[in-house]
Amino acid sequence: MTRPRLRVCVYCGSRPGANPAFLHSAQRMGTALGRRGWQLVYGGGRVGMMGALADAALAAGSDVEGVIPRSLMQREAGHTGLTRLQVVDTMHERKRLMAEHTHAFVALPGGVGTFEELFEVWSWRYLGYHERPLGLLDVAGYYQPLLALMQHAQREGFVTAEQMSMVTLRTTPDDLLDAISDLTATCEPVDLRRI
Ligand code: AMP
Repeated sequence: MTRPRLRVCVYCGSRPGANPAFLHSAQRMGTALGRRGWQLVYGGGRVGMMGALADAALAAGSDVEGVIPRSLMQREAGHTGLTRLQVVDTMHERKRLMAEHTHAFVALPGGVGTFEELFEVWSWRYLGYHERPLGLLDVAGYYQPLLALMQHAQREGFVTAEQMSMVTLRTTPDDLLDAISDLTATCEPVDLRRI
């Protein structure tokens, strides 16, 4: 099957994490995107998982767009070797530009910022602001506790089975990108003008 060229927004940690498997997964995701000729949009930093992801995607031939607030240029080491680095005034502008025109959202292991971004696009999805796939890369079981929390929330009546079904979880980048590609076949890119 011929797969379309997608623009994928990836959220991940600004730190490398404790297990070398995390950084390795960021590199493998970057390489997998580049090999498919897909475009990567991410937070624009050179630090941690973010930098490993971007460098691998560039090396594999991806068009890589970073979006970073001016105030974080130093802290997150704004990556000047990207295809395009957009330096914006606010975090809200960063999030809007990252989400706009994107075919799918993917979260790799990360911390508070990664969780926040994942939950934001997840809530936008169930509220009907977009239909794009949401992918979670579960490296070394990193996201199992989050999944357990979400199942608990479902049992306790705060989260629905439909909301749970909106997130696709896989353990390898290629499996995740294949699943996302199948899901994107029927929906339009995100239009955030309504949000
Ligand atoms: P972390 O997962 O905490 O290492 O953060 C990953 C990325 O998310 C970093 O580039 C942070 O700047 C970014 N980030 C942190 N908080 C937010 C937020 N509220 N909205 C969007 N991105 C954020």
